[in-house]
Amino acid sequence: MERGLELYSGKAKSMHLTDDPGRLIMEFRDDTSAFDGEKIEQLDRKGMVNNLFNAFIMTRLQNTGVETHFEKLLSKTESIVKNMDMIPVECVVRNIATGSLCKRLGIEDGLNLEPPTFEFFLKDDARHDPMINDYHIDSFGWATREEVVLMKRNTFQVNDILGAMFADAGMILVDFKLEFGRDSSGNLLLADEISPDTCRFWDAETHEKMDKDRFRRDLGGVTDAYAEVLKRITANS
Ligand code: 5GP
Repeated sequence: MERGLELYSGKAKSMHLTDDPGRLIMEFRDDTSAFDGEKIEQLDRKGMVNNLFNAFIMTRLQNTGVETHFEKLLSKTESIVKNMDMIPVECVVRNIATGSLCKRLGIEDGLNLEPPTFEFFLKDDARHDPMINDYHIDSFGWATREEVVLMKRNTFQVNDILGAMFADAGMILVDFKLEFGRDSSGNLLLADEISPDTCRFWDAETHEKMDKDRFRRDLGGVTDAYAEVLKRITANS
């Protein structure tokens, strides 16, 4: 497959056109950003680790009945994905309270959430990805009511699958963010990426952070922690 012009470049990934209009090449770069792009660094090998991580998780989800845009690995840092019409919202599930939830609501950090909670955010860096609700999505036409129901259902399904998978590998899936899009037939598919950049994982015994919070909080060892998570989940499969 020929890599064509760059279609879009985000904070950590670039999307490239291909000779097939139905497919794109998703390139994972070493760039790492936090706080809406205020903090940016290059972390050696991170693009490669996240590409392999995402491929492993997306394949596992697909084999468990969650439809995704992922098709196959192309190189160490690139994957082939379906060309999607992206829905501009982020779907977040939280099993443990931390991050923006604690800041926003004054909730104790580390509180176990039973049942897990769900939040929608608008993808809009300039406005710091504000929290939105189902009615906003409907009124502003970002997605249909049916798509809203499906996004929630699928995000909780992913939580069940990945929660069990990470528990088996000695980790806690604290929270994560998903994005969805429509394929050329209008079907809702899981899109974007799932990686330690978009999830929080804690070691089950020590509660050591093994995700992008290492970068956000200047804890060091970011890529090594990502690679350790990948090693644990692949060793356990
Ligand atoms: P929080 O709302 O606490 O900042 O994030 C909740 C979860 O969603 C975390 O796992 C975080 O990594 C992920 N998340 C939320 N928004 C974004 C985003 O804009 N980019 C990325 N990479 N992850 C996000």
